[in-house]
Amino acid sequence: MEREVQRVRQAFLSGRSRPLRFRLQQLEALRRMVQEREKDILAAIAADLCKSELNAYSQEVITVLGEIDFMLENLPEWVTAKPVKKNLLTMMDEAYIQPQPLGVVLIIGAWNYPFVLIIQPLIGAIAAGNAVIIKPSELSENTAKIVAKLLPQYLDQDLYVVINGGVEETTELLKQRFDHIFYTGNTAVGKIVMEAAAKHLTPVTLELGGKSPCYIDKDCDLDIVCRRITWGKYMNCGQTCIAPDYILCEASLQSQIVWKIKETVKEFYGENIKESPDYERIINLRHFKRILSLLEGQKIAFGGETDEATRYIAPTVLTDVDPKTKVMQEEIFGPVLPIVPVKNVDEAIDFINEREKPLALYVFSHNHKLIKRMIDETSSGGVTGNDVIMHFTLNSFPFGGVGSSGMGAYHGKHSFDTFSHQRPCLLKSLKREGANKLRYPPNSQSKVDW
Ligand code: NAD
Repeated sequence: MEREVQRVRQAFLSGRSRPLRFRLQQLEALRRMVQEREKDILAAIAADLCKSELNAYSQEVITVLGEIDFMLENLPEWVTAKPVKKNLLTMMDEAYIQPQPLGVVLIIGAWNYPFVLIIQPLIGAIAAGNAVIIKPSELSENTAKIVAKLLPQYLDQDLYVVINGGVEETTELLKQRFDHIFYTGNTAVGKIVMEAAAKHLTPVTLELGGKSPCYIDKDCDLDIVCRRITWGKYMNCGQTCIAPDYILCEASLQSQIVWKIKETVKEFYGENIKESPDYERIINLRHFKRILSLLEGQKIAFGGETDEATRYIAPTVLTDVDPKTKVMQEEIFGPVLPIVPVKNVDEAIDFINEREKPLALYVFSHNHKLIKRMIDETSSGGVTGNDVIMHFTLNSFPFGGVGSSGMGAYHGKHSFDTFSHQRPCLLKSLKREGANKLRYPPNSQSKVDW
């Protein structure tokens, strides 16, 4: 690991990752890789998550291609130095902010969207002029392998390196010194990453998870609400960091919500969900068993069917869920949707604020004031009113968590900023020393009076 990181550092120190032209070339090469090897990439994602080509394309590849195009279009402007306002003492000088690369960046990815979660930060790191070591998740091993195979065929082999491995290898990697670590995954490992980074005072971006609540007000169109929630919850079999984790609503709405989600599930995945090309599987047996254990003692309104051999868990809704039970103590990260009845919006706000800050918050209502109030009186990484997931798609938004759902953010310009140092540069002249004499000792009252 030490030798590998050293090799990448030497490549960074050669200076070749810095020129704008080089960055653009590498981003174009990355785009070519995605376009030319699309079939291989989609096949790897399919093998990891039992995902149809169409879903893998729309959930991962489109985002990557869109991000590369956005960078190519805007990078020339972002890399240029920005003049700043000056004061009396610097009036005659040159003062500007120059974004500069941080150095060698480590990107550690998670398995649930195994391609986009490593390639999107990579795009930002390349755009900002860094050298990068990428550590894909070992749980999505097919995508990890294809990325390790393809990247060296298209990108500079010394500047951008893939290291595959599990906990042992990552632990070893984390002992090395990096200039930034960008980690996506669960909160517990996020703490391990941050602790390792602290040893070298390395800054981190932590893209973590948590329980993202979804409040449904009684003043709304339940058909549309339930369709949108069903889409966001069961996409990727519930293994989405910003999936609505649970619903808060008045008890009187529960039965209608259950019925409408059930109908929508039928509409989306047909009578035989197992046969639907749009319904994925749980990543591995450990997660399969973990999700099953969350169902113990719960009232299953519908769903609950499972098949261990194929790691299938049907779209499931739980009603009258007690907040003290296990399903409400950890991020579900599976196709199980608990409904927790609350009296009103005040109780929903208290409920959210009594828990860790979530990565996303969803609120559904015709009442715009209620949505605004929910936003004002709670905290979360991001919010979408009257829909789910969609704030992720807008790359003018910084995407990231707050509190235990993460720190730092990326996407679009925010990625460029995350991987750049905003360096203040003040260039003075060696002339005009008369004016400068004012600040040199000895000090006297006459200087102050001036
Ligand atoms: P994972 O098991 O793939 O782990 C993530 C990475 O951490 C992997 O590369 C793995 O090798 C490494 N790792 C695991 N244990 C480690 C250890 N002890 N020491 C060092 N490295 C270790 O993925 P996961 O954690 O199961 O991912 C799911 C979680 O990630 C969920 O909480 C989800 O909400 C979150 N997530 C967040 C985002 C986001 O953008 N905020 C996106 C996707 C997933």
